[in-house]
Amino acid sequence: MIQTQSLSVYYGDKQAVRDVTFHAPAGKITAIVGPSGCGKSTFLSSLNRMTDLIPSARIEGQVIVNCCDVQDRNRSPAELRRCVGMIFQKPNPFAMSIRNNIQLAVREHGQRDRQQLNQITESVLRDVGLWDEVKDRLDDSALKLSGGQQQRLCIARALALKPSILLMDEPCSALDPIASATVEALILSLKERYTILIVTHNLAQARRISDEVAMFWMNDGAGEIIEQGPTETVFSKPNHPIAAAYFAGTSG
Ligand code: ADP
Repeated sequence: MIQTQSLSVYYGDKQAVRDVTFHAPAGKITAIVGPSGCGKSTFLSSLNRMTDLIPSARIEGQVIVNCCDVQDRNRSPAELRRCVGMIFQKPNPFAMSIRNNIQLAVREHGQRDRQQLNQITESVLRDVGLWDEVKDRLDDSALKLSGGQQQRLCIARALALKPSILLMDEPCSALDPIASATVEALILSLKERYTILIVTHNLAQARRISDEVAMFWMNDGAGEIIEQGPTETVFSKPNHPIAAAYFAGTSG
C-alpha cells in the first residue's frame, strides 16, 4: 500500500531524512515516533509530494503508493494528494462555511450535482461524528467550531475525496484532552477502511492505537528509522538499545 526504498530527503545541502526503507500495511495504523527534529514530518510530507511545495526540498530513493512510483512524472500530484490525504497538527479549516469546506475540493474534482454533494457532505460528517453537531448550521463559518470539531471537519474534508491513505501529523497534540480522546477514537474507527500513518509524540497514544510502529532517531545530523515492527513487539522487546531507552523514558 505504501512503502519507501532508501528514501532520503534534503533541504538544500542539509539532509533531514537518510536512507529510510519502510512499509505500512494496508488497513492498519502505523505510528511514527521519535524526538523532535528527527525528520518525521519531512518523511510524512514526502509520501504525497507535499515536499514539492518547498523549493529547497529534494528527494532521493523511491516512494511507492498503491503499487505506483510517486515520483513518476506521468502521475499528477493533485491525484496523488486526493488518494493520500493529509491532516496537520493545527486544524486548518478554510475560512468559509462548514458545507463549503467539504464541497470545495469535491467540486474541483468534477462533482457538480448538488444532491450528490449534499449526500457526500452528510456521509463524511457522519463518519467523523460531526453531523448531529452541525447539521443545523452547515452554512455557518467553520472557524466558529471548537478546535476538536475543526480537526474532525478537516478529517471529513479529506475523506470526501475518497482517499485510501491518510497521513496524520500530530493530529491530537493541539487539542484539549477530551477533544484529543474524541479524535483518537475517530482515528481508530477509520482504520478498517483506510491505511493510516500517524506521527505522534505521545507514546501511550501510539501504543493504544497503532498496529505497527516506526521509530526515527537523529544520526549524524539526519533522521533514520532505527526500529520498526508490530507495536507490542517494538514496545515490549525493542531490538535497538536507543529505542529501549526511549520507550523506557530514559532517553529522548
Ligand atoms: P520532526 O517532524 O521529527 O520534528 P522535521 O521533519 O520537522 O522533524 O524536521 C527535520 C529537520 O529538517 C529539522 O532539522 C528541521 O529544522 C529541518 N526542516 C524542516 N522543514 C524544513 C524546511 N522547510 N526548510 C529547511 N529545513 C527544514
